[in-house]
Amino acid sequence: MYIVPERAIGDLMTRQAAFDAVEKVFAAMASGDAYNFPVVREAIGHEDALYGFKGGFDRAGLVLGLKAGGYWPNNMDKRGLINHQSTVFLFDPDTGMVRAMVGGNLLTALRTAAASSVSIKHLARKDAKVLGMVGAGHQATFQLRAALEQRSFEKVIGWNYHPEMLPNIEKVAHEAGLPFEAVDLPGMAGADVIISITSAFAPSLMADHVSPGTHIACMGTDTKGKQEVEAALLGRATVFTDEVAQSVSIGEAQHAIADGLIREADIAQLGAVINGTHPGRAAKDQITLFDGTGVGLQDLAVAAAVVEMAVANGIAIEVDF
Ligand code: NAD
Repeated sequence: MYIVPERAIGDLMTRQAAFDAVEKVFAAMASGDAYNFPVVREAIGHEDALYGFKGGFDRAGLVLGLKAGGYWPNNMDKRGLINHQSTVFLFDPDTGMVRAMVGGNLLTALRTAAASSVSIKHLARKDAKVLGMVGAGHQATFQLRAALEQRSFEKVIGWNYHPEMLPNIEKVAHEAGLPFEAVDLPGMAGADVIISITSAFAPSLMADHVSPGTHIACMGTDTKGKQEVEAALLGRATVFTDEVAQSVSIGEAQHAIADGLIREADIAQLGAVINGTHPGRAAKDQITLFDGTGVGLQDLAVAAAVVEMAVANGIAIEVDF
């Protein structure tokens, strides 16, 4: 088996490779060639940690495996370690033998940014100029870098619940040579594309804060009870997701469904747009919303790509196992 340690990922994995892997696996999910297994997530009663597994099988790409890990809230304060910890395990689908163990921390940020980036490619207006960011934490910087590659954006605007964090995304905008403006939430009406990536349990972005024709990627809500945008916004939008079952249970759509504003059947898979079996954006003034809940197959897809690169570059550690 191969080991690709966390420290090796940064030099190997590119945003483009993550984008390609995620776009491909979303398409495979929509065509029924790939499926995710039920997610296990447990409060283990130790160190206040949440631990679980996300797994799946991509029959088209022949990728089988799981990501194991979760959230250890005391890591940083007690040990100087990052709080989110994960590792991906890949198995040979022909034999069941373990193929690789791959550091999953940086890959998680890259695959999550790739997901919203894929949604922007396929759903945002081609003439989008202003990118709005709601959120300025760890994931937000990855999200912003990946999104900027999808359209000829001319400006980034941002709002964050903790305004002192805004320089995190301002820096990324400036690195890309773009002006950055801090706005209030109604100011988001000036954006053509909005990414929300927060850990909120109550909505910040209201339906009235979003202009017709906008594409919104809701990336923070990945757990029951979390919420970033007003449910009415989903009622007004055409809603897409990575996986419908997750969207209605742990994604942003959980609230609009509970309020009776949309039905499960109203939510389309982004992969269907990639495959050309769903038309995607139908009008210039339509609001499109991607509910990115995060699926195991995304993790497996980027991990498989990085193993290939690590082997090709002689960086993978081979272990007789
Ligand atoms: P972080 O702790 O670095 O940042 C949290 C962000 O949320 C900050 O911008 C903070 O100001 C904001 N925030 C906190 N409380 C808020 C509130 N009450 N209202 C509005 N905003 C608030 O976290 P991160 O690593 O950037 O992760 C952000 C979210 O993304 C988390 O909820 C995480 O679970 C989720 N996530 C989703 C996926 C996916 O695949 N969809 C993958 C990774 C992380």
